[in-house]
Amino acid sequence: MSHKIAVIPGDGIGPEVITEGAKLLESLDFKLTYFDWGAEKFLQEGIGLPQDALEMLEKNFDAIYFGALGDPRIPDMAHGREILLGLRTGLDLYVNFRPIMLLHPTLGVLSKNQGIDFVVFRENTQDCYLGRGETKHAGTQKEVTIDESMHSYAGVERIIKQAFEHAQNTGRKSVHLGHKANAIKFGGPLWLRVFREVAKSYPDIQAKEQHIDLMALEFVRAPEQFEVIVTSNLFGDILTDLGAGLVGGLGLAASGNWHPGKIGLFEPVHGSAPDIAGQNKANPMAAFLSAALLLDFLGQKEPAQATQNAVKQAITQGICTPDLGGQKTTQEVGSFIRNQIL
Ligand code: ATP
Repeated sequence: MSHKIAVIPGDGIGPEVITEGAKLLESLDFKLTYFDWGAEKFLQEGIGLPQDALEMLEKNFDAIYFGALGDPRIPDMAHGREILLGLRTGLDLYVNFRPIMLLHPTLGVLSKNQGIDFVVFRENTQDCYLGRGETKHAGTQKEVTIDESMHSYAGVERIIKQAFEHAQNTGRKSVHLGHKANAIKFGGPLWLRVFREVAKSYPDIQAKEQHIDLMALEFVRAPEQFEVIVTSNLFGDILTDLGAGLVGGLGLAASGNWHPGKIGLFEPVHGSAPDIAGQNKANPMAAFLSAALLLDFLGQKEPAQATQNAVKQAITQGICTPDLGGQKTTQEVGSFIRNQIL
């Protein structure tokens, strides 16, 4: 069966890296449909996310392949919030899945680099990202701001369950909860309580609890201890960039946002990188690794694994863009990776 993919290349280096990954999906017989949502459309037509977008995507597509948003002409990222946050919350993509894997020893920044291979399940629809709160005395020295951080039992339970399910299905032996129940008065204990309750249904998986600040330290001290991590939106956001930094940087960091059983959105973690846009030097590996997550989500295990292996092969042979110390262009790296797979 040919899968239907909505492709949203976006801004800056988004189109450059997504083009490379999209060629792979096309040659695997996927049917791609492109959408021009991004800065240009927003500036020209005042449209970020078109009105019928959510329904149309859910009805017609199996997955979304997404580039990046960000444009110096829109400094407050209004279009980014509308499009990307609109898709994440509108489609209820509550799982943000980010693998942290050292693909090649030369990419590691730690003195002992072996064995970094874990995944982070970040809750994607709650916490302080909902834009709720208020500011008093704005713009004065008396300014006081309140950002509301919302966590519901159901929202916390479903992401924790996904983390345990993943551990069980992939033969991992432990799940770590990253939390701050000692300092965050309401949300902290809720996460801890739900984690302990859900863990009871998975007696073969070790349930481990760690304060999020200690977890950041442990990422650097002994990252090999982690297999599966589950945490809230803000903690996950910060922690996964730290993780990306341990294994090669933004040019290699991939992510998936999905609602199990429904649609998924797959995107490189990096943004639009305006400083290098249009120069054919953006690293397309994160886009390929995001395509691999998309393939895996759609049950295409073999091409997913082949894509990851091809990226490894490119790194091993030094077929890399300047961010990884190489001299190849985006297109050259893209062709090399596809040639390994097809
Ligand atoms: P945005 O506002 O869209 O998030 P940004 O420039 O603030 O853009 P990123 O795009 O995530 O943030 O990247 C930060 C820097 O990392 C970039 O300026 C760029 O130099 C580098 N970078 C990011 N992605 C890549 C990539 N795929 N290849 C090479 N360098 C990259």
